[in-house]
Amino acid sequence: MHEMSLCESILDIIRDRAGQDRFSRVTRVCLEVGPLSSVEPEALRFGFDVVMRGSLAEGAALEIETPEATAFCVACLSSVPVRNRLDPCPACGSADLQITGGDDLRIRQLEVI
Ligand SMILES: [Zn+2]
Repeated sequence: MHEMSLCESILDIIRDRAGQDRFSRVTRVCLEVGPLSSVEPEALRFGFDVVMRGSLAEGAALEIETPEATAFCVACLSSVPVRNRLDPCPACGSADLQITGGDDLRIRQLEVI
């Protein structure tokens, strides 16, 4: 389950920040999970609780935001919203799209003590 290793990377990032910013407890983690990132929010929640257990983020609330995915249409040269990787351009129907957003996972915000 790759959500598990994602949670481990998130914990690594939190630990790094804790060292830099000198906090010792994380109470809330806001994540942005792109609709094209192939991450299952439910699996992510499960993995989060397991991985954070015993760490400085144990019991932290997890918020998952899903931003809109966007792509650039090479045919009509505009930025358009998409729901799937294989969607055609909603404006002109071209399949020649380059995904420009919504395909990654990132930490948007940490609430710390
Ligand atoms: Zn187009």
